[in-house]
Amino acid sequence: MPANTGRGRLVLTIDVERDWDGTDTRGIDEALPWLLERLRHHGATATFFVVADLTHQVRAVLDPAGPHEVGSHGLTHERLDRIGHDAVRRELTESKSRLEQAGYLVEGFRAPYFAAPPDLSEMVSEAGYRYDASEGRLWPSIRRQSSEDPISPRRVVTSTLRDGRTPLSLTWLRMLHPVAIRSLPASGTSVLYLHLHELLDDTPGWMALAAGLRHVHRRGSGARARSIVDHLLANRRGDVVSCRDALVDAA
Ligand SMILES: [Zn+2]
Repeated sequence: MPANTGRGRLVLTIDVERDWDGTDTRGIDEALPWLLERLRHHGATATFFVVADLTHQVRAVLDPAGPHEVGSHGLTHERLDRIGHDAVRRELTESKSRLEQAGYLVEGFRAPYFAAPPDLSEMVSEAGYRYDASEGRLWPSIRRQSSEDPISPRRVVTSTLRDGRTPLSLTWLRMLHPVAIRSLPASGTSVLYLHLHELLDDTPGWMALAAGLRHVHRRGSGARARSIVDHLLANRRGDVVSCRDALVDAA
Protein backbone atom coordinates (compact mmCIF):
# COMPACT_ATOMS: atom_id res chain seq x y z
CA MET A 1 0.00 0.00 0.00
CA PRO A 2 1.31 3.53 -0.76
CA ALA A 3 2.17 5.71 2.22
CA ASN A 4 0.55 8.93 1.03
CA THR A 5 -3.11 8.30 1.74
CA GLY A 6 -4.27 11.71 2.87
CA ARG A 7 -4.11 13.58 6.13
CA GLY A 8 -6.55 15.13 8.54
CA ARG A 9 -9.50 13.76 10.38
CA LEU A 10 -11.62 10.99 8.90
CA VAL A 11 -15.26 10.67 9.97
CA LEU A 12 -16.20 7.03 9.48
CA THR A 13 -19.83 6.17 8.69
CA ILE A 14 -21.22 2.71 8.03
CA ASP A 15 -24.63 1.98 6.52
CA VAL A 16 -26.00 -1.16 8.19
CA GLU A 17 -28.51 -2.90 5.95
CA ARG A 18 -29.14 -6.26 4.26
CA ASP A 19 -26.31 -7.58 2.08
CA TRP A 20 -26.24 -6.03 -1.40
CA ASP A 21 -29.87 -4.96 -1.04
CA GLY A 22 -30.90 -8.63 -0.88
CA THR A 23 -32.20 -10.61 2.07
CA ASP A 24 -29.02 -11.94 3.74
CA THR A 25 -27.46 -10.27 6.78
CA ARG A 26 -23.99 -11.82 6.84
CA GLY A 27 -22.56 -8.31 6.94
CA ILE A 28 -23.99 -7.85 10.44
CA ASP A 29 -23.23 -11.35 11.68
CA GLU A 30 -19.71 -11.71 10.22
CA ALA A 31 -18.26 -8.37 9.08
CA LEU A 32 -19.50 -6.22 11.97
CA PRO A 33 -17.58 -8.18 14.66
CA TRP A 34 -14.43 -7.92 12.50
CA LEU A 35 -14.86 -4.17 12.04
CA LEU A 36 -15.53 -3.56 15.75
CA GLU A 37 -12.36 -5.41 16.62
CA ARG A 38 -10.29 -3.33 14.15
CA LEU A 39 -11.83 -0.07 15.44
CA ARG A 40 -10.92 -1.05 18.98
CA HIS A 41 -7.41 -2.05 17.92
CA HIS A 42 -6.78 1.29 16.21
CA GLY A 43 -8.54 3.45 18.82
CA ALA A 44 -11.17 4.67 16.33
CA THR A 45 -14.86 5.50 16.71
CA ALA A 46 -17.54 5.30 14.01
CA THR A 47 -21.19 6.04 13.29
CA PHE A 48 -23.40 3.13 12.26
CA PHE A 49 -26.54 4.19 10.40
CA VAL A 50 -28.79 1.20 11.04
CA VAL A 51 -31.92 0.14 9.14
CA ALA A 52 -34.25 -0.17 12.12
CA ASP A 53 -35.96 -3.42 11.18
CA LEU A 54 -32.53 -5.01 11.78
CA THR A 55 -32.25 -3.56 15.30
CA HIS A 56 -32.49 -6.91 17.04
CA GLN A 57 -29.59 -8.43 15.08
CA VAL A 58 -27.42 -5.35 15.41
CA ARG A 59 -28.08 -5.12 19.15
CA ALA A 60 -26.65 -8.63 19.58
CA VAL A 61 -23.27 -7.39 18.27
CA LEU A 62 -23.10 -3.63 18.91
CA ASP A 63 -23.26 -2.58 22.57
CA PRO A 64 -25.18 0.69 23.17
CA ALA A 65 -22.79 1.40 26.05
CA GLY A 66 -19.77 1.18 23.73
CA PRO A 67 -17.81 4.03 22.12
CA HIS A 68 -19.63 4.01 18.77
CA GLU A 69 -22.62 6.00 17.64
CA VAL A 70 -25.82 4.55 16.16
CA GLY A 71 -27.98 6.62 13.83
CA SER A 72 -31.02 5.72 11.76
CA HIS A 73 -30.91 4.58 8.13
CA GLY A 74 -34.72 4.37 7.94
CA LEU A 75 -37.12 1.68 8.96
CA THR A 76 -37.00 -0.54 5.87
CA HIS A 77 -34.33 0.94 3.55
CA GLU A 78 -37.03 2.37 1.32
CA ARG A 79 -36.22 5.30 -1.02
CA LEU A 80 -37.72 8.32 0.71
CA ASP A 81 -38.07 10.29 -2.52
CA ARG A 82 -40.61 7.75 -3.79
CA ILE A 83 -42.99 7.61 -0.84
CA GLY A 84 -45.39 10.24 0.51
CA HIS A 85 -44.80 12.77 3.24
CA ASP A 86 -46.60 10.71 5.91
CA ALA A 87 -44.64 7.60 5.05
CA VAL A 88 -41.36 9.54 5.30
CA ARG A 89 -42.39 10.85 8.71
CA ARG A 90 -43.16 7.31 9.83
CA GLU A 91 -39.75 6.08 8.61
CA LEU A 92 -38.08 8.85 10.61
CA THR A 93 -40.00 8.54 13.87
CA GLU A 94 -40.50 4.78 14.06
CA SER A 95 -36.90 3.95 13.17
CA LYS A 96 -35.66 6.34 15.84
CA SER A 97 -37.91 4.94 18.53
CA ARG A 98 -37.16 1.35 17.63
CA LEU A 99 -33.42 1.95 17.92
CA GLU A 100 -33.88 3.91 21.14
CA GLN A 101 -35.91 1.09 22.66
CA ALA A 102 -32.83 -1.08 22.12
CA GLY A 103 -30.79 1.37 24.19
CA TYR A 104 -29.11 3.52 21.51
CA LEU A 105 -28.95 7.31 21.67
CA VAL A 106 -30.09 8.26 18.14
CA GLU A 107 -29.13 11.75 16.99
CA GLY A 108 -28.38 11.31 13.29
CA PHE A 109 -30.26 10.18 10.20
CA ARG A 110 -29.10 9.10 6.75
CA ALA A 111 -31.55 8.55 3.89
CA PRO A 112 -31.15 5.23 2.03
CA TYR A 113 -29.30 5.78 -1.31
CA PHE A 114 -28.87 9.46 -0.28
CA ALA A 115 -32.30 9.82 -1.92
CA ALA A 116 -33.74 12.76 -0.02
CA PRO A 117 -37.00 14.58 -0.74
CA PRO A 118 -36.46 18.38 -0.81
CA ASP A 119 -37.81 19.03 2.70
CA LEU A 120 -36.04 16.09 4.36
CA SER A 121 -33.69 18.03 6.62
CA GLU A 122 -36.62 19.94 8.20
CA MET A 123 -38.50 16.69 8.70
CA VAL A 124 -35.42 15.10 10.27
CA SER A 125 -35.26 18.00 12.69
CA GLU A 126 -39.00 17.82 13.47
CA ALA A 127 -38.63 14.12 14.22
CA GLY A 128 -36.17 15.00 16.99
CA TYR A 129 -32.84 14.28 15.37
CA ARG A 130 -29.87 16.54 15.93
CA TYR A 131 -28.37 16.22 12.45
CA ASP A 132 -29.01 14.94 8.94
CA ALA A 133 -26.35 12.98 7.04
CA SER A 134 -28.38 12.43 3.86
CA GLU A 135 -26.21 14.47 1.54
CA GLY A 136 -23.77 12.43 -0.51
CA ARG A 137 -23.16 10.61 -3.76
CA LEU A 138 -23.35 7.01 -4.92
CA TRP A 139 -21.68 7.65 -8.29
CA PRO A 140 -19.05 10.09 -9.57
CA SER A 141 -20.57 13.28 -10.92
CA ILE A 142 -19.34 15.78 -13.50
CA ARG A 143 -20.19 18.54 -11.04
CA ARG A 144 -17.50 19.20 -8.46
CA GLN A 145 -18.66 19.10 -4.85
CA SER A 146 -18.04 22.25 -2.81
CA SER A 147 -15.04 21.96 -0.54
CA GLU A 148 -16.71 23.56 2.50
CA ASP A 149 -16.41 21.81 5.87
CA PRO A 150 -18.52 18.64 5.70
CA ILE A 151 -19.40 18.90 9.39
CA SER A 152 -21.73 21.63 10.65
CA PRO A 153 -23.98 21.45 13.73
CA ARG A 154 -27.05 20.07 11.90
CA ARG A 155 -25.47 18.51 8.86
CA VAL A 156 -22.88 15.87 7.92
CA VAL A 157 -22.00 15.70 4.21
CA THR A 158 -20.23 12.71 2.69
CA SER A 159 -16.98 13.79 1.03
CA THR A 160 -15.42 13.10 -2.34
CA LEU A 161 -11.92 12.16 -3.38
CA ARG A 162 -9.52 15.01 -4.17
CA ASP A 163 -11.07 15.33 -7.66
CA GLY A 164 -14.26 16.72 -6.04
CA ARG A 165 -16.31 14.26 -8.11
CA THR A 166 -15.79 10.66 -6.94
CA PRO A 167 -17.62 9.66 -3.74
CA LEU A 168 -15.39 8.99 -0.74
CA SER A 169 -16.82 5.52 -0.19
CA LEU A 170 -15.30 2.09 0.21
CA THR A 171 -17.06 1.16 -3.03
CA TRP A 172 -14.93 3.60 -5.03
CA LEU A 173 -11.77 3.04 -3.01
CA ARG A 174 -11.86 -0.64 -3.89
CA MET A 175 -13.14 -0.30 -7.46
CA LEU A 176 -10.44 2.26 -8.33
CA HIS A 177 -7.74 0.53 -6.32
CA PRO A 178 -4.91 1.49 -5.97
CA VAL A 179 -5.38 4.93 -7.58
CA ALA A 180 -8.24 6.09 -5.34
CA ILE A 181 -6.44 5.66 -2.04
CA ARG A 182 -3.76 8.09 -3.25
CA SER A 183 -6.49 10.63 -3.97
CA LEU A 184 -7.96 10.99 -0.50
CA PRO A 185 -8.55 14.58 0.63
CA ALA A 186 -5.17 16.01 1.63
CA SER A 187 -6.22 17.95 4.74
CA GLY A 188 -9.14 18.98 6.93
CA THR A 189 -12.05 16.75 7.85
CA SER A 190 -13.53 14.25 5.41
CA VAL A 191 -16.49 11.89 5.72
CA LEU A 192 -16.30 8.35 4.32
CA TYR A 193 -19.06 5.73 4.07
CA LEU A 194 -19.08 1.99 3.60
CA HIS A 195 -21.39 -1.02 3.82
CA LEU A 196 -20.68 -4.08 5.95
CA HIS A 197 -21.36 -6.53 3.12
CA GLU A 198 -18.49 -5.04 1.11
CA LEU A 199 -16.15 -6.58 3.68
CA LEU A 200 -17.40 -10.13 3.07
CA ASP A 201 -15.69 -12.74 0.90
CA ASP A 202 -17.77 -14.53 -1.74
CA THR A 203 -21.22 -13.52 -0.55
CA PRO A 204 -23.81 -14.58 -3.11
CA GLY A 205 -25.96 -11.66 -1.93
CA TRP A 206 -24.72 -9.42 -4.75
CA MET A 207 -26.78 -11.56 -7.15
CA ALA A 208 -29.73 -9.54 -5.86
CA LEU A 209 -28.36 -6.56 -7.78
CA ALA A 210 -29.32 -5.66 -11.34
CA ALA A 211 -27.06 -7.53 -13.80
CA GLY A 212 -25.17 -4.41 -14.90
CA LEU A 213 -24.20 -3.61 -11.32
CA ARG A 214 -22.99 -7.04 -10.27
CA HIS A 215 -19.50 -6.93 -11.68
CA VAL A 216 -18.65 -3.44 -10.50
CA HIS A 217 -20.03 -3.96 -7.04
CA ARG A 218 -18.20 -7.21 -6.54
CA ARG A 219 -14.80 -5.86 -7.59
CA GLY A 220 -12.36 -5.66 -4.68
CA SER A 221 -14.92 -6.69 -2.07
CA GLY A 222 -13.83 -9.03 0.75
CA ALA A 223 -10.10 -9.27 1.50
CA ARG A 224 -9.11 -6.15 -0.45
CA ALA A 225 -11.90 -4.08 1.12
CA ARG A 226 -10.83 -5.21 4.59
CA SER A 227 -7.22 -4.35 3.86
CA ILE A 228 -8.17 -0.84 2.65
CA VAL A 229 -10.21 -0.20 5.82
CA ASP A 230 -7.49 -1.52 8.08
CA HIS A 231 -4.90 0.59 6.26
CA LEU A 232 -6.98 3.76 6.68
CA LEU A 233 -7.46 3.07 10.39
CA ALA A 234 -3.75 2.45 10.92
CA ASN A 235 -2.67 5.42 8.80
CA ARG A 236 -4.85 7.92 10.69
CA ARG A 237 -4.53 6.38 14.07
CA GLY A 238 -6.33 8.49 16.68
CA ASP A 239 -7.96 10.60 13.97
CA VAL A 240 -10.83 8.37 12.83
CA VAL A 241 -14.03 9.41 14.60
CA SER A 242 -17.82 9.14 14.62
CA CYS A 243 -20.12 11.98 13.49
CA ARG A 244 -20.99 12.61 17.14
CA ASP A 245 -17.33 13.02 18.07
CA ALA A 246 -16.72 15.31 15.07
CA LEU A 247 -19.84 17.36 15.91
CA VAL A 248 -18.56 18.10 19.39
CA ASP A 249 -15.86 20.23 17.76
CA ALA A 250 -18.27 21.82 15.26
CA ALA A 251 -20.76 22.96 17.92
ZN1 LIG B 1 -28.26 2.03 2.52
